[in-house]
Amino acid sequence: MKMPKMSLLDWQKKYGTETACAKALFHVRWPEGFYCPRCGCKKSSYITTRKMHQCSKCKYHVSLTTGTLFHSTNLPLVKWFWAIYLTAADKGGISALRLSKQIGVSWPTARNMLKKIRTAMEHRDSIYRLENIIEMDDAVVGGKRPGKRGRGAQGKKPIVVAVERRGDKAGFMAAQVAGTINKQVVREFIKYLFKPGQTVRTDAFPALNSIAETHKHDKKVTPPEQASTWLPMVHILIGNLKKFLNGTFHGVTHKYLQEYVSEFCYRFNRRFWEPELPLRLLNACLTHSPVI
Ligand SMILES: [Zn+2]
Repeated sequence: MKMPKMSLLDWQKKYGTETACAKALFHVRWPEGFYCPRCGCKKSSYITTRKMHQCSKCKYHVSLTTGTLFHSTNLPLVKWFWAIYLTAADKGGISALRLSKQIGVSWPTARNMLKKIRTAMEHRDSIYRLENIIEMDDAVVGGKRPGKRGRGAQGKKPIVVAVERRGDKAGFMAAQVAGTINKQVVREFIKYLFKPGQTVRTDAFPALNSIAETHKHDKKVTPPEQASTWLPMVHILIGNLKKFLNGTFHGVTHKYLQEYVSEFCYRFNRRFWEPELPLRLLNACLTHSPVI
């Protein structure tokens, strides 16, 4: 579904007040209009400071944010909406420090907001299953220094990356951080992220052999100088992912690595709809359940 482009001024105009943000959330929460769970009355008034709707008949209070991504938040919704806009509009991904300065919250608060927003990104992507010919490879990412595959890569974490080939172009991608790359990890990754029976192209890393259990496994021994010919797209992606992690976040600790990787995937998978990204992300966040 196509969505309108949103500039910063458009956003300010549409979601620049607490009332406007509450209204947007209200429409998602009660698409058929307000309904009091106690007496069934359809009229209410909104108490902005408490983010509560008060039933006009029995005076019962119903929270606007309960059961949403903004569950039990003390922050004004307008700050949440700006966080969503800034996250989506910043091509390199916004850091918690920058977000905290832009919207006037503490660093831990900004971190927590980003965690929730990125979880909504990850869940939106997890609906999709990769298909056709898929290039797949593993790498090590994170940490401050460059490292190599497998054991001995200090401060780094293994990651599995896959991307669809659509002719000579890349389609959707998926990536997952793992403690170690073994057959079980690969099995789970493809079970949840690939359609059954696709063709998966890899190098001859033994842990990838479990692919053949459910898919057509097209593997080839690839010396480093030939790797970019056999698996060109996934290698470009891994390179870009490393730049993304080092650029915005100056090396990432393990704790947050999957979050950043999910954000990278979400952006890549919507690279042709960049101007629509703020509204798309807002929609993903407004319809998301709470993240603890
Ligand atoms: Zn009522």
